[in-house]
Amino acid sequence: MLTSGLKSGVIFALFTLSGLLSLSGTFQANAANTAHAATEILRLDTGIANVYLLKGPKSFLIDSSSVGHEAEIEAWLKAHQTPVESLEAIILTHGHGDHAGGALKLGKSRGVPVWVGAGDADMLNRGRSRDLIPTSFWAGVLRLFVDMPYTPFQADRLITEPVDLSPFGIQGRVLPLPGHTSGSLGVVLDEKKQAVVGDLFRGGVFQNSTPRVHFFHEERPQTMWQIWHLLEHEGLREFFPGHFGPLQAADLKRVFFPNGHFNWAIPAGGQDPESCPFETAL
Ligand SMILES: [Zn+2]
Repeated sequence: MLTSGLKSGVIFALFTLSGLLSLSGTFQANAANTAHAATEILRLDTGIANVYLLKGPKSFLIDSSSVGHEAEIEAWLKAHQTPVESLEAIILTHGHGDHAGGALKLGKSRGVPVWVGAGDADMLNRGRSRDLIPTSFWAGVLRLFVDMPYTPFQADRLITEPVDLSPFGIQGRVLPLPGHTSGSLGVVLDEKKQAVVGDLFRGGVFQNSTPRVHFFHEERPQTMWQIWHLLEHEGLREFFPGHFGPLQAADLKRVFFPNGHFNWAIPAGGQDPESCPFETAL
């Protein structure tokens, strides 16, 4: 049993490392391509997780990091001329503490509504994540250090089907993407073929733009289907995950679907997907 001091030290070291390795804490995504489009995706890496500002005629914050990062996020929003009070809503990609923990203090307590997938409402109501199901040996180790409880609160809108954002002047949609959790959501910008996808996958700890299987998934085959759907049916080009990134479609196809078709359930050549090298890569 680790002492709490040692435990928090290890957590701090892990996330300090992740923060340093993300190279640029804050950056403007796809800046070169924003000139002709009204809505852009901006990222803040809090060191625990990314939060994104969907900045358009109306603006949304996507995710809220964990408890303790509210002031940092607020200052960042202000620097982008989008004070918290001006947000249309905070959209939570899912209810895990590193994504949902800041939403109460940052937004809800000041009248900004919080949207979440209906399948994750119970996590908000309890203020803690459901059991994390690791996708690799190392993820099982990591699980010991990533419990991030938060003060329980109720969401203002429970999402069960796609939400058209055009009434807010944004050519985009909120899409249910169950798999990482049953209530996981993504936000798609249709014109730019970009999406914020929460923990559907992540970037590498060392190679931030290399796609990796996320450490935890409730329904892993379902996540693979969602990735396939976004690539092949939605034709998306660029992805902004909850950790590291951003990631390009070609890299996702190369890593997750090297044979060019959806083959996770029946691996080509009989290869056990659990043994793929990228499964345990950091
Ligand atoms: Zn998560």
